Amino acid sequence: MKGSCLCGAVVYEIDSIDRPIGHCHCQTCRKAHSAAFATTAGVLREHFRWLQGQDRLSSYESSPGKKRHFCSVCGSQLVAEREAQPFMIVRVATLDEDPGMLPVQHIWTSHDVPWLAYDDLPAYPEWQPGR
Ligand SMILES: [Zn+2]
Ligand SMILES: [Zn+2]
Repeated sequence: MKGSCLCGAVVYEIDSIDRPIGHCHCQTCRKAHSAAFATTAGVLREHFRWLQGQDRLSSYESSPGKKRHFCSVCGSQLVAEREAQPFMIVRVATLDEDPGMLPVQHIWTSHDVPWLAYDDLPAYPEWQPGR
């Protein structure tokens, strides 16, 4: 299964998702992704590879030993890792195919912001009426 950044410069491939999908609400994910929470999944290093554009990657060490890798052209957050750990933390929203799994949890909701509401809101397939 392939994943890529917004501009297409960086492409990666995973063989499997090895730790369940979850939504992380921590403050650093919120800032890094400019989003209320980030959807992530663990992929064993041997099941992850860069296919293209590795020279376009930048990384930011958001806490000691934790590097967040993103495209230096378009800014998409792609994966994070701690070098001592066996899992790469893939940003599920950058996958180009349906992983065939659903998220199992929200984590770090203690960091939720007051304006966050993701249930019971009206939903539209495209723009809202009257826009
Ligand atoms: Zn890009
Ligand atoms: Zn987080």
